[in-house]
Amino acid sequence: MPAKDLDQIVNLCKRRGFVYPSAEIYGGFRSSYDYGPLGALMLRNVKDAWVRAMVQQRDDTVLIDAAILAPPAVWEASGHLANFTDPLVDCTACKQRFREDHLDDPNVCPGCGAKGAFTEARAFNLMFKTYAGPVEGSGAEVYLRPETAQGMFVNFGNVLQTSRKKPPFGIAQVGKSFRNEITPGNFIFRTREFEQMELEFFVPPAEGPQWYEYWCNERLNWYVGLGIPRDMLRLRAHDADELSHYSAGTSDVEFMFPWGWGELEGIAQRTDYDLTQHANHSGEKLDYFDQANNERYVPYVVEPAAGATRTMAAFLLAAYDEDEVGGELRTILRLHPRLAPFKVAVLPLSKKDTLTPLAKQIHRTIADRYMVDYDDTQSIGRRYRRQDEVGTPLCITVDFDSLEDNAVTIRDLDTTEQVRVPIASLMTELYQRLGF
Ligand code: ATP
Repeated sequence: MPAKDLDQIVNLCKRRGFVYPSAEIYGGFRSSYDYGPLGALMLRNVKDAWVRAMVQQRDDTVLIDAAILAPPAVWEASGHLANFTDPLVDCTACKQRFREDHLDDPNVCPGCGAKGAFTEARAFNLMFKTYAGPVEGSGAEVYLRPETAQGMFVNFGNVLQTSRKKPPFGIAQVGKSFRNEITPGNFIFRTREFEQMELEFFVPPAEGPQWYEYWCNERLNWYVGLGIPRDMLRLRAHDADELSHYSAGTSDVEFMFPWGWGELEGIAQRTDYDLTQHANHSGEKLDYFDQANNERYVPYVVEPAAGATRTMAAFLLAAYDEDEVGGELRTILRLHPRLAPFKVAVLPLSKKDTLTPLAKQIHRTIADRYMVDYDDTQSIGRRYRRQDEVGTPLCITVDFDSLEDNAVTIRDLDTTEQVRVPIASLMTELYQRLGF
């Protein structure tokens, strides 16, 4: 059973070191979170799983890592300075602010219940502005990127020249983005600083629709392949009035959050909007010469744009489970092994010096290939529970017999089944059980 309410995950994340409220010793900083020892590992695993599927396992994409700070010219051309706004309304009764398009009833304040007390909606730009260099003022203005996508568009020419790729091909990027959200909330679902995983896939214009369909399916399957039940996911096409200024069609991959369906990823047909805008504003040619057909064209773009931090929340919610083992309630994260912070935990049955050298040696061997925990505190039952709660797929117990028979016990998180395995074949056994 996945988590029914968000607090189950928020509490687990705090308790076990996945996610902490940011600047907590100063009372916290709303909408910012810090990823702790386990959360940092899991977030990295989410991003690695994305890069693996979107770059490593394909021959038609490349990865870049562009700057977070960019000058106004980029955002002028992309349309973000003019259009990247949300409609902001103030309640004149309780003074709270809301996004008009998120209100259940546009006349009723969800904060205090006042009717008809909202101000006219104002367009509020979501980009964070700051200044480069010691002098504040125009000329030194820069913006923190609100999406990673523009990094791919402004580097289109560079990548084309240096990578030997030709359409259809994609440029991928994973990294931080920043939006001055009016109403951040729901834990790491909506924050002002977050991580994105985006692909800009450049295709001959006529192939736009077919690649759009391809990427919708591909992306939905990525979440299913990493363990989210199919019935907790849906693909929802945007209505015409929902479309962004650049889009000829968008579908969202949505997840059933405890509060209802919420977006994990948008797959958009951006047409030639971005390359044309940047070509016009920069004066540089951003097109492709197709030698086979002797024609020059501006590629169309299909963009699957996902959130790494928001997706991590979905993976945690879907993996959450409670069951009973030996009459005791246990909390368990049924995470896909690729996403689990630790793949393996080494647990010497006793802290006695006689077991430590062998247990440490096994830990070192496994650590060469997998992220592995080492825990020799408290009872073995308590240690299993701790690993269950953070989704460690396999536990290895080193006991006194191990010194005699050169074997250890592997315990499986899902089934709690235990088998004895010779140390000599441990790595093969782990590989077979984890699948990588
Ligand atoms: P929303 O409608 O939820 O504000 P969006 O449609 O503006 O999202 P996109 O611009 O399509 O989002 O960004 C792509 C992805 O980036 C989203 O699907 C989401 O996973 C992630 N994302 C966007 N904004 C945030 C945020 N404030 N916090 C966390 N993740 C975000």
